[in-house]
Amino acid sequence: MNGWQINTNGKIEKISRTEMLNSVDSLKVKITRALITEEDIALISGEGKAATFPLIPGRMAIGQITDLASPSEYLAKGAKVCISAARSCGNCYHCLDGKNKQCFDFKIAGVNADGFLKDFAVLTTEDVFPLPPSVKETDAIYLEYIALALSVIDKLHIEKGQHVAIIGATVFGCILSQLIIYYQGVPILIDDEEEGLLTAKKSGIYYTLKVTPKIEVDVGALTGGRMISKVVFSSRANSPVDLAFKIASPFAEIAFAGFSYPSIKAPLQIALKKQLTCKAITNGFGNYETAINVLANKAVDLSHYALPLTKMEDIETNVDNMRAAFKEKKKFSDLLINMLG
Ligand SMILES: [Zn+2]
Repeated sequence: MNGWQINTNGKIEKISRTEMLNSVDSLKVKITRALITEEDIALISGEGKAATFPLIPGRMAIGQITDLASPSEYLAKGAKVCISAARSCGNCYHCLDGKNKQCFDFKIAGVNADGFLKDFAVLTTEDVFPLPPSVKETDAIYLEYIALALSVIDKLHIEKGQHVAIIGATVFGCILSQLIIYYQGVPILIDDEEEGLLTAKKSGIYYTLKVTPKIEVDVGALTGGRMISKVVFSSRANSPVDLAFKIASPFAEIAFAGFSYPSIKAPLQIALKKQLTCKAITNGFGNYETAINVLANKAVDLSHYALPLTKMEDIETNVDNMRAAFKEKKKFSDLLINMLG
């Protein structure tokens, strides 16, 4: 296996390692596309002190099965698959009780386990999910975000016709907004900048709001004065977190969702006054099959988020450039890599 590793001294370097099929349910996947996002860059830059080094980054990837330790009913050699970034530990109190979704010790690719910035991965049959031929690769690379969005919808119990504010017009914010429409809620996507909101509008998000000093008035106007009972703050949102609390109605729920762990200081005084409930959702474990169905049913339009393919030989330069931009708090786009060359 050839991979790109962040060393303990913070440098990225190419490594080679032999990885063998190691259990009856193990399989080998040729990684065909890998995605490096701002969240990956935040983690390898030390945000939240969550990542353990040395580490191969990369939470999102798709690939093709090249070898199986034993025949499987659902998986075959040559099958295109998406890969779950989260793996439950199997040993904690919840795992032993059959509640893997609430595992105390998830191993997450690109955080506390090696990610997918490598040409091959040895995985288990539980980590991979076959992709139907109708699902496009440029869409499938975002399955991890779709699975996360499904976890958010599940945890917030969104009802038909209910307003949900999503702060952060990122690709995740747009996916979540589209899924809320799919489940018959009414998303209001909010961002400090027009650019992300415009892309989301093209993808079918009707209510978008740019943050201005009168944002609370704008939200009031859209909700008939009721304000918002379900608010989602994307961990990569560039808006102040206070906004989530200000636009919340009394007894509302606020969810913090994303894959990275930025330092967030929340105004708990407002939470006390309004008796708010706060939740955090950081993986889409258990939702991959539903996420694939979402794409197969064309329930989300990701055509405006398709990224250009970059080459493997440029990985070191591209990742270093992203890290430099992150450090300088500059904007940069996600990196889609053709792991076939
Ligand atoms: Zn566990």
